[in-house]
Amino acid sequence: MRIDIITVLPELLQSPFNHSIIKRAKEKGIVEIELHNLRDYSNDKHKRVDDYAFSGDAGMVMTIEPLFNAIEHLKSQRKYDEIIYTSPDGQMLNQGKSNYLSTLNNLIILCGHYKGIDQRVRDHLVTLEISIGDYVLSGGELAAAVITDSVVRLLPGALGDETSALTDSFQDNLLAPPVYSRPAEFNGWKVPDILLSGNDAAIDKWKFEQSLERTKRLRPELLQDWGDE
Ligand code: SAH
Repeated sequence: MRIDIITVLPELLQSPFNHSIIKRAKEKGIVEIELHNLRDYSNDKHKRVDDYAFSGDAGMVMTIEPLFNAIEHLKSQRKYDEIIYTSPDGQMLNQGKSNYLSTLNNLIILCGHYKGIDQRVRDHLVTLEISIGDYVLSGGELAAAVITDSVVRLLPGALGDETSALTDSFQDNLLAPPVYSRPAEFNGWKVPDILLSGNDAAIDKWKFEQSLERTKRLRPELLQDWGDE
């Protein structure tokens, strides 16, 4: 998979992709993540990428030309499955959307800033708009990092068996069961006996019951989604 991220702050995205699972996935050739500085696509002599809003509102708007140039440049090199704009009014990111994105080959992610990007980019060039939650960030970079992280860990080979994504929360619309490690007793606080029993079938049953109980208590709406599929 290849992910091209268009941003005015490439420095902000260097660290998130150079550690842990994403770093290993890049080294194994499972994913290629390219950061593009939007200013490199500005024809303005000061490399400006923003201008005032025609509506007269306070706050700058990211102009269409550099974004168009950057997207067209990338599109001339390969076919993209989705051109994503990170936006608070986009579709809410969830595990289902991350699963979908992980099945694609080439993605572009546009990071907005200021008041956002010229609407014509959204109307004519963007194919998918994603929000990471009902709050407003200063820029799309952190959202792009969240989307990329949640997608890359799903790519075959990115996680070792010991951390298989299939047992994580939201796969099957269930929250993950609680997890414990050694020591079996600490400060008088004990690990549930069943986990020390060595009875795999009983442990699997316990994990499922715990998942179900946790989901009913914390996110009951996820269980209703079962009926919708
Ligand atoms: N004026 C816009 C917010 C602009 S915030 C509005 O009210 O909708 C600046 C940029 O940060 C946006 O262009 C977007 O790319 C990014 N951003 C802010 N909040 C976000 C969120 N919840 N999810 C994804 N991207 C977000």
